[in-house]
Amino acid sequence: MGAQASSEQVDEVVARLEEAGASAHVSHGRDATVIGAIGERELLATLPLEGFPGVEQVLPILKPYKLVSRELRRDATVIEARGRRIGDQYFGFIAGPCTVETREQTLETARVVHAEGVTMLRGGVFKPRTSPYAFQGLGAEGLEILAEARELTGLPVVTELMDPRDVEPVVEIADVIQIGARNMQNFNLLSEVGRAPKPVLLKRGPASSIEELLMAAEYVVKEGNTQVILCERGIKTFERSTRYTLDISAIPVLKHETHLPVIVDPSHAAGKRDLVLPLARAAVAAGADGIIVEVHPRPEEALCDGPQQIPAAEFADFAHEIRALASLLGKTIG
Ligand code: PEP
Ligand code: MN
Repeated sequence: MGAQASSEQVDEVVARLEEAGASAHVSHGRDATVIGAIGERELLATLPLEGFPGVEQVLPILKPYKLVSRELRRDATVIEARGRRIGDQYFGFIAGPCTVETREQTLETARVVHAEGVTMLRGGVFKPRTSPYAFQGLGAEGLEILAEARELTGLPVVTELMDPRDVEPVVEIADVIQIGARNMQNFNLLSEVGRAPKPVLLKRGPASSIEELLMAAEYVVKEGNTQVILCERGIKTFERSTRYTLDISAIPVLKHETHLPVIVDPSHAAGKRDLVLPLARAAVAAGADGIIVEVHPRPEEALCDGPQQIPAAEFADFAHEIRALASLLGKTIG
């Protein structure tokens, strides 16, 4: 719809689309209002949409992903949680422990990362572990600790949801719901968080293509939750010297394909703390809308991912570099 289209004209088009059995998704941009219509192509083709007052252009979306596509929405989506923003000019700086292990470890880490200007606190309480004998996380008790860390610092908290049966307690406490790499194609879980009133941080599966990641995001947005952050965290390749191979090219490719913000997790890609800073630098330079990194007061004692966690005592230097690089690229730390 042209910039001058009235809200009555927009409503009229939406009503006609719905009559034709399509779902209509309206997004108001700077120069136009875009109505994304999803339905039977043949039925939609019979509607004389071009002739409707206010309609400027009717375009088929050729990509398999529709709602997350740049074709539908040219302006970047900005995700907000407790006043912190990610997307467009806002750079999200997320840090915290891999896993909430104890109250003391979590609050200590939260204090350190907050002092260094991060914008959100991460911490897992439901952990996807390769071994069923490994520490599985504190569960609901960990959520209480995260709530306390938020109270202490004012930072919004990001935590993983693994099971649709835990939606209620996680949605209640989390400010951003993380869907882990292993669950990227857990379609029931995706639809569930698509109905949740909180932003979703969706991690790319280690063996998933960029198109599969975008289709997973489409599952969430289709249910009505447009607040999705995509996260590149490394993929499986033949290379053994890193835990995964960070796919830097995913950043510009995703930014071209979608209006959703794209962040990078260099910690899980690297698997080793010495590699986290160079990978984070590369991510920022390639145009990422943020990073998410793991920090622990005593990584040698960590119950999960010790070798890749940045010691809290070294976090100030790390954060200083990231803040400087982000501002060099014209970003505002959200
Ligand atoms: C995590 O961020 O805690 C995590 C388990 O990451 P991933 O799902 O990317 O492996
Ligand atoms: Mn981890």
